[in-house]
Amino acid sequence: MRVSRLLLVTLRDVPAEAEITSHQLLLRGGFIRRVGPGVYAYLPLMWRVLQKITAIVRQEMDLAGAQETLLPQLHPAELWKRSGRWQGYTAGEGIMFHLEDRQGRQLGLGPTHEEVITSLAGELLRSYKQLPVNLYQIQTKFRDEIRPRFGLMRGREFIMKDAYSFHADEADLKLTYARMDTAYRRIFERCGLDAVPVDADSGAIGGAASQEFMVTADAGEDLILISDDGQYSANQEKAVSIPPDPVPLDPGEDSVVSTPALSTIDALCREHGWHPSQLVKVLLLVARLEDGSDQPVLVSLRGDQELNTVKLVNAITRLQEQGVLDCRPISPEDLRKQNLPSIPFGFIGPDLGEGVLEGATTWRRHFLRLRDRTASELEHFICGANQIDQHRINTSWTALNKAALPEDPALTLDLRNAKTNEACVHNPAAHLQEKRGIEVGHIFQLGRKYSEAMESGFTNESGSNEPFWMGCYGIGISRLAQAAVEQHHDQAGICWPTAIAPFTVLVVVANIKDVTQANLGEQLYNHLIEAGVDALLDDRPERAGVKFKDADLIGIPWRVVVGRDAAEGIVELVCRADHSVRKLPHDDALGSLLSMLRP
Ligand code: ATP
Ligand code: MG
Repeated sequence: MRVSRLLLVTLRDVPAEAEITSHQLLLRGGFIRRVGPGVYAYLPLMWRVLQKITAIVRQEMDLAGAQETLLPQLHPAELWKRSGRWQGYTAGEGIMFHLEDRQGRQLGLGPTHEEVITSLAGELLRSYKQLPVNLYQIQTKFRDEIRPRFGLMRGREFIMKDAYSFHADEADLKLTYARMDTAYRRIFERCGLDAVPVDADSGAIGGAASQEFMVTADAGEDLILISDDGQYSANQEKAVSIPPDPVPLDPGEDSVVSTPALSTIDALCREHGWHPSQLVKVLLLVARLEDGSDQPVLVSLRGDQELNTVKLVNAITRLQEQGVLDCRPISPEDLRKQNLPSIPFGFIGPDLGEGVLEGATTWRRHFLRLRDRTASELEHFICGANQIDQHRINTSWTALNKAALPEDPALTLDLRNAKTNEACVHNPAAHLQEKRGIEVGHIFQLGRKYSEAMESGFTNESGSNEPFWMGCYGIGISRLAQAAVEQHHDQAGICWPTAIAPFTVLVVVANIKDVTQANLGEQLYNHLIEAGVDALLDDRPERAGVKFKDADLIGIPWRVVVGRDAAEGIVELVCRADHSVRKLPHDDALGSLLSMLRP
């Protein structure tokens, strides 16, 4: 390809729409163009990158024994109703684009394909003899993300590789899961990415293993915790740690003290010299459940701890035996809408009575009361006295109003965020370090969640019917491409890893009007093409400086500059990543490139 013919429109200025470096560089380098919120066109350079990533993914999937297929993007609502996910994915904050056809039938645009594939498997895989089967596809997914941002990182239309495996038993699922784990590590390594596998939240179904692959980068949306002994890493959504010991409370009488206007932990501690770990704080939330009911939730946490909403939602799901569509703090406005009297926010204790929910118009009239272990383990503590401007000091769980406390030990849980510098559960001598990560892949032992819900199964060896054991495995292809830029760039532009670069070698003719330069450039370019190298020739009648700037920006790994020394047959061989420059006779430059690039 010649740059004079390539659709390459580079921008000098940083586009206002782009906050993070990789997004800015992809826009400036003419790789992508925004068409609407979270919707991007992949321009020719980008499409080449995506094709290269796709080829690597395809090879590794085939090697891992998966078969390529292509499933529809239009999903009949019926399928999603069978799995029980239609409501959750279309109502409220649901992310599925959905529509009606001319007959008035409801359809969704595929955000993920468990429903379609589980239903097909049920029709096609009848016997244990056909198992295991692992199917993958590389395709555009649609998700009406609440906050599409950062270009390809969180799009509303993006390319994903998703795979789904079907097994007769759990042991076999684990074998394929391990094979996919290996395949994923190879894919990211071959793409030139440093991706860390971390324990991930498996949602409410619990038990099943799930692992994410994170590209560490400051711009990452996920927080990951990695132990300094290298033995443990987890997404903060799932991470566990040993909480720091609380500061003991000086002994004293259980009594109520006046704390006017001190409604935050910070203010209370500043005014009274308390330590946050001596307080029990209470959070009131309301969970919208899948059956449409609204369940008020009261969570007690130690004052120095943060609530982990993913752990909370999982706990509610398990206890209520149904999905949670949404879980958010209760506001004074909610109380007004429910026709309820106000609650002394900022002064609430764990024993806030059910009376405050009496007469609620639509909410359930009792709290689901949950305690984090850090709170339940406090012998003496300070908490709100359920009266405005009053706190209770030196109290204990036995002294509080029993009628309103969770008796059931199942309601005492891990609901806190693990944090940096905390000791690890697997080895208290090791400590967690936090990093930001971009999730580029996710592998998941689904178990029988979908096959049971959709009544999709096979006949086992003894002739009876059983639901499949399933795994699912995703890679965000377009997100991966941008994550590579986030990890590989410098002041001047992108430094593509060779395996996924749009072109491998860029031949720049400094002055195209100089016949010697033009001819030598042509000659080198043709040699490279003949040798099967992905070469690009910058033959534009532009100033050399403009070409060099563009070359740095678009980040082709190798550059051959044919300039003034062309008359002596000398060219420059430049490595984009480390800026090293070698002046060489053109044959040596070619030889050096070919031996480096030979697979
Ligand atoms: P996230 O937590 O980032 O929203 P997810 O866990 O919902 O992602 P999965 O359903 O696991 O995503 O999808 C598999 C992969 O697809 C993810 O690991 C990620 O790389 C990619 N992906 C998910 N959502 C998007 C998106 N909106 N834009 C681009 N890539 C995405
Ligand atoms: Mg995920």
